[in-house]
Amino acid sequence: DMSAIAPQPRPLVLAKDLAKTFDVSPPWLNRVLEGKQRLLLHAVDGVSFEIERGQTLALVGESGCGKSTVARLLVGLYAPTRGGLSFDGQDVHATLNTPQGQALRRRIQMIFQDPYASLNPRWTVEDIVGEPLREQGLTANPADLHARVADLLQSVGLSAMDMAKYPHQFSGGQRQRISIARALGTEPEFLVCDEPTSALDVSVQAQVLNIMKDLQRARGLTYLFISHNLAVVRHVSDQVGVMYLGRLVELADKQTLFATPRHPYTRMLIDAIPKMRDTGRARTPVSGEVPNPLSPPGGCAFHPRCPHANARCTSERPTIQFFSTGRVACHAVQEGRI
Ligand code: SF4
Repeated sequence: DMSAIAPQPRPLVLAKDLAKTFDVSPPWLNRVLEGKQRLLLHAVDGVSFEIERGQTLALVGESGCGKSTVARLLVGLYAPTRGGLSFDGQDVHATLNTPQGQALRRRIQMIFQDPYASLNPRWTVEDIVGEPLREQGLTANPADLHARVADLLQSVGLSAMDMAKYPHQFSGGQRQRISIARALGTEPEFLVCDEPTSALDVSVQAQVLNIMKDLQRARGLTYLFISHNLAVVRHVSDQVGVMYLGRLVELADKQTLFATPRHPYTRMLIDAIPKMRDTGRARTPVSGEVPNPLSPPGGCAFHPRCPHANARCTSERPTIQFFSTGRVACHAVQEGRI
């Protein structure tokens, strides 16, 4: 009897084999005259993940690992070269170009890293926070808009009195709260946060992260949180995905990832986090540099930096393997060597 089977909870966000390639070739004429090659940058290559409603997935990695490209794919700023993305069962990129696109756009919002660059300096806070409401026709009249903006500012710990001010009158942390208030105007369900606190001082970062967690609980928000900083991610995430040169190398729930990291790159990142109670053991800085993403190493792209690399690693690219505690793309883990 099929009706007896409880419906499986469907992840709100589902990325399947997501890929984005940029053509960064020199102009055609240079290629012809100077014999230059066509150049493709595989910024994101075959990334899959799911995010349950009300949960936070953090994607971490060094710059150039493709995490910001994933963020831009999720909000529709880029179209995927391959693979797909669904939100609440709808194909995101197909839907954005249809009459239902606007409704979908309201449900997915993005918070950017730099609150200085993303807030128009000549607009008042009321204009900035109210713009998405006006643009989407979500307010009845100016008094209603005023009241909605006041509510939004209060929800991020600012005051209704702040409405008449301009961005330069606020600190960095307050400016980031203004951009969060703005993003919340359309009552989104999913927020894509690209390094939302990395431009801020450590103590201010903690305040903004706490506000984001409070908002998540109060509104049932789902987050994708992009960061280069594993220590930050530890406070906000349920699941953590580690990216290296466009690929996901490990994905696990937060406790598992921090307690028993499996991929050598994840281990390297965790060893580099300064310890809260310093036991005298020096932290191990991340060693080596990220290779040029235009000519990534063959086999496992991490092999030049990996203490566990062997001949297989230099020639064969590891694929993601599912374990009971998560997924890892590493030959040594698969072979039980580490
Ligand atoms: Fe290291 Fe090989 Fe695993 Fe890559 S596949 S992370 S080189 S052990």
